Amino acid sequence: MTARTLSGTAIRDEIYSELKGEIAALEAVNIRPGLAAVLAGKNPASQIYVRNKIEACEKLGLGSWLHTPSSDATTLELLDLVLELNSRDDVDGILVQLPLPPQVDAKRVLEAVDPAKDVDGFHPINLGRLVSGREGLVACTPAGCMEILRRGGIQIEGANAVVLGRSDIVGKPMALLLMHANATVTICHSKTRDLPAVVRQADIVVAAIGRAAIVEPGWVRPGAAVIDVGINRITEADEAQRIFANFPAKLAQFREKGSVLVGDVHPAVAEVAGAMTPVPGGVGPLTIAMLMSNTVKAARLRRGALAASRAQSANPADKTAANS
Ligand code: NAP
Repeated sequence: MTARTLSGTAIRDEIYSELKGEIAALEAVNIRPGLAAVLAGKNPASQIYVRNKIEACEKLGLGSWLHTPSSDATTLELLDLVLELNSRDDVDGILVQLPLPPQVDAKRVLEAVDPAKDVDGFHPINLGRLVSGREGLVACTPAGCMEILRRGGIQIEGANAVVLGRSDIVGKPMALLLMHANATVTICHSKTRDLPAVVRQADIVVAAIGRAAIVEPGWVRPGAAVIDVGINRITEADEAQRIFANFPAKLAQFREKGSVLVGDVHPAVAEVAGAMTPVPGGVGPLTIAMLMSNTVKAARLRRGALAASRAQSANPADKTAANS
């Protein structure tokens, strides 16, 4: 069996074309959703991530602002910036790129973000809403995994789902989303006994632990759907040879660039799974797509109702029609 590829880029494009319609509807009532990114310091990976997010805003016609406090910024300076962004009506989403410089109290900064603008879904209020199944802003990566499962035609209701990893930003929200979608969920972590045996029970596997190619073909039940969240950069020739012995194109890529990406799932799992996300091109594109989607949603929830009521009071005929 060769797994059907669950392409994140194709699903991202589908979501972008739907978002364009929603953005146009908001523009019609003079709302242009906007995202403010806070990038403190000069972490090269963070610079790339933030650049990609700003480019996605530009592609969709969303407003975007980039704030770049220096690497010696203090907690108080970042709190001031967040409070200023909270107070601006044109800013619908605030993204504080992690990691923050070590002297900064990251939790305090994240908790200062207005929950209505918390497009990363990290604020305790949004996490609480997720726990109780109420509408709110959900962390982008797990929300993206759900889009892949739903749009990829994977049966979630009644399925046994195994989530590898229990981080606040991926594993925990992922498990909650699957549970709300009526899967029976098992959460695994570094202390789980006999991980392969637990994973073999799964109809759906979501791997988010950050260990290169750890999930091997023998761990996966034939036909299972496998979502690989992990992004691991391989820079050692021995490791590249071990993982990609039967994948000459990947080895050629390693030789050419000196590094190659692999997920938490070994690529040979594709011979056993029924459907599987690639790395790269799987979950990654969805994480940015859901950030865009959350920004549009935040604008709609925070400003949309107000704009609709303004439009109605400016046109009492509509009000009469609406009440009749
Ligand atoms: P994290 O905060 O480091 O959490 C890792 C989790 O995996 C922890 O719960 C840990 O268990 C568990 N774990 C570690 N080693 C394990 C092992 N050998 N067996 C079983 N469980 C183990 O990581 P994260 O932020 O959730 O990210 C996970 C991966 O996803 C990383 O590769 C990251 O780069 C990637 N990621 C990708 C995207 C994307 O857009 N595609 C977004 C976010 C993250 P304990 O709790 O017991 O320590």
